Amino acid sequence: MFEDRKCVIPTCHTYALPNSDLCYHHTKDKKKVLDEFEALLTVTKKAKNVSIVNAEFENLDMRLARIRYSNFAFCVFRNCDFSSSVLHTAFFDYAIFENCRFREVESRYSVFSGSSFLNCDFSLSTMIHSAFMGIDCYRCDFSSSDLYFSNFSLSKIINSSFEDCNLKRCNFRSVIIRGVSFKYSNPEEAFFKRLEI
Ligand SMILES: [Zn+2]
Repeated sequence: MFEDRKCVIPTCHTYALPNSDLCYHHTKDKKKVLDEFEALLTVTKKAKNVSIVNAEFENLDMRLARIRYSNFAFCVFRNCDFSSSVLHTAFFDYAIFENCRFREVESRYSVFSGSSFLNCDFSLSTMIHSAFMGIDCYRCDFSSSDLYFSNFSLSKIINSSFEDCNLKRCNFRSVIIRGVSFKYSNPEEAFFKRLEI
């Protein structure tokens, strides 16, 4: 998982960047790291074993990218496009996503727990066995998505759409929901308990 090397700073337990002895946080030229990551995505559309924690991305084009075994915890993504990407065992926990597009994303075993989503589009996606525990979700569109076995428990979901979704074995336990439509979906096959606020 990620690079099998930790940052050489004695008090740091974060994974080192590829081709570096340091993690992203302790790297002086952070812009160079981000530029190289964007170039990698532009050229190969693939990223594997990348760990960039607590970085900010704006207008990042991740369309059709294949992101595997990578860690972007605590990152901020603004106006980034993940549409038609494949996210396999990718970690985005405690991240912030504003105005991002995830249309037709294929996500398996990926983690978004503790993250905040504002005005994001997940429509037409396959996001199975993915973790959305404890997310804050405002004005997001999950319509026409397969969310089989994904976990939204303990989340706050406001003014969002889960219309025409497959919710089989999806976990919505102890979720705070307001202004959310499940029209044409199958909430009866989910672990579903609404708490209105
Ligand atoms: Zn470090």
